Amino acid sequence: MPNKNLIIDFNDFDQQLKDSVIMMVDDESINTDMIQIHLEDAGYKEFIITNKSDQAMELLRKERPDVLLLDLNMPGITGFDILQEVRADIELKHMPVIILTSSSEAETKLKALELGATDFLSKPADPSEMMLRLRNTLTVKAYQNQLAYYDHITGLPNRRLFLDRLDWAIKDARREKTITSVLHIVFDQLKQINDTLGPRIGEMLIQEISVRLKECLRDNDAVTQNIQDSTTKIAAHLGDGEFTVLLQKIGQTEDAAIVAKRILAVINDVVYIEENDIQLNPSVGISIFPTDGEKAEELLTFASSASNHAQQQDSNNYLFYSKDINEKSLQRIKLTGLLRKAIDNGEMQLYYQPKIETQSNKVAGMEALIRWISPELGFVSPVDFIPLAEETGLIIQIGEWVLYEACRQNMEWQKQGLKGLTVSVNVSGIQLVQQDFSKMVSNILESSGLDPRCLVLEMTESVIMNNPEKIIKLLQQLKRLKLSISIDDFGTGYSSLSYLKKFPLDELKIDRSFIIEIDDDDDDKAIVTAVIAMAHSLGLKVVAEGVEDESQLNFLRTLDCEQIQGFYFSKPLPKEEFAKFVMQNHQ
Ligand code: C2E
Ligand code: MG
Ligand code: MG
Repeated sequence: MPNKNLIIDFNDFDQQLKDSVIMMVDDESINTDMIQIHLEDAGYKEFIITNKSDQAMELLRKERPDVLLLDLNMPGITGFDILQEVRADIELKHMPVIILTSSSEAETKLKALELGATDFLSKPADPSEMMLRLRNTLTVKAYQNQLAYYDHITGLPNRRLFLDRLDWAIKDARREKTITSVLHIVFDQLKQINDTLGPRIGEMLIQEISVRLKECLRDNDAVTQNIQDSTTKIAAHLGDGEFTVLLQKIGQTEDAAIVAKRILAVINDVVYIEENDIQLNPSVGISIFPTDGEKAEELLTFASSASNHAQQQDSNNYLFYSKDINEKSLQRIKLTGLLRKAIDNGEMQLYYQPKIETQSNKVAGMEALIRWISPELGFVSPVDFIPLAEETGLIIQIGEWVLYEACRQNMEWQKQGLKGLTVSVNVSGIQLVQQDFSKMVSNILESSGLDPRCLVLEMTESVIMNNPEKIIKLLQQLKRLKLSISIDDFGTGYSSLSYLKKFPLDELKIDRSFIIEIDDDDDDKAIVTAVIAMAHSLGLKVVAEGVEDESQLNFLRTLDCEQIQGFYFSKPLPKEEFAKFVMQNHQ
């Protein structure tokens, strides 16, 4: 690990090199004194010097210099012993070691080379040769550091260096009884942006975030300058848009919250990249040494589970880690593990809720709704596991299973005589951005043998509006397969009417929240009336969701709402019961 931030910065590279920490081990102080004088003349400033070889290893571990100048012939512990120990030490093994040798013996040099010497300098050292060797060695080291410890997109420290710095900070804090804090920053949209706008825009966005992050950690920032002077702040990019900040020697835990608020305020602003307005929605998790944990990995994990939790509650939010959060994130990990197995183990089922023609009371079709009956957890609602499936990407596999099973079942019913029913399948936004989504749909239509006119894909308003230009193209592709498209939970998101007109939609489902109080709430009445009129003027069929009683139904009838779905007619039913329902009631 580099002691200082010795990296390649072409603006000021020579100066950076001169800031390197140089350690010398030689039993004769005349040698170390001479070298120090020469190096000081050349501008080097930081030296760790010992003439006692038995102290060398301890000093090396404590100080971790950028380069070691090592004498070979010393009484007791020799330079060979030290070199050997350095190369065997996990933390020190990549440190450059320049051997100082008066012997011109090839054998000695060969032995040192075998043990991992980086270079040789003959004693007494010739100043210009010494400068050159040192400079070359440090330059190579700087390149290595750059590659090994810094993130190439942002130039910030990477996970490895961050954890190392945190480790040091913890040791310091323990010694000096100060408080150290880790902030972990995540964003709602990054993965989706990468998938939809491409990795190049994703990288530009990450760069912009790093610039903003550095900006709000600057000491002369109006907000963070209130934090005590001795506090050091280091930002890092752990990869995939996951950022951290290390706050060392803060006066009180509230200071971490001040920095978190500042970061949220600065990063939450819209970013413009190549004509895209991107809203970032950051969330920050905070962990504290010594209260929350004692180890670097632990503090980082805790800050990360706090940021995940903050994100679920409400993005643009910060949260301190607590045992309770840890409990919840362990539960999520367990749930994800169980969900992963659930499909293969046949724990998923589809229920079907009838969609009824308002005028004739006949069953027009059904919505397929997934049910998870877990041997460990019992019934788990889709409201609880679909978001998790979306976050973990498991929705791709689940969604494909749902689509196939719904088409297969509909085909089976058609063969049994329940003809002409449409099956509506919910599609998540994550599925839509997956490559070849429409190819997957067309394969399933083919393998199940279902007439595409009997398939409706439901997508929510927010999914469609999130990236309208791209979605329009995808919907056009899907429409060529001759299936129908429905906009689900309408009214809960934000719709641009000009876009709505451009989407090739067939159906609009008014969200249940507008129907619940339609009898008593004049605003809801007005909204539903307006939405139905607008949908009709765009040539869309309207379905009202969540109709639970007759007066709601009657009101919707007066507005010519075409279809009703809700507990008034039926709850979602297992497949056998659904078939019975259709045969007994409504054909
Ligand atoms: P959704 O697509 O809007 O489905 C309608 C939800 O409203 C269903 O809840 C249904 O049981 C419920 N519902 C229908 N009529 C009434 C009523 O009269 N009163 C009340 N109180 N509720 C009613 P469910 O099955 O719990 O599903 C919830 C959500 O989970 C769905 O909302 C959908 O967004 C998601 N979901 C379900 N299955 C799938 C699936 O296979 N894939 C995806 N991506 N999402 C799914
Ligand atoms: Mg739906
Ligand atoms: Mg809905």
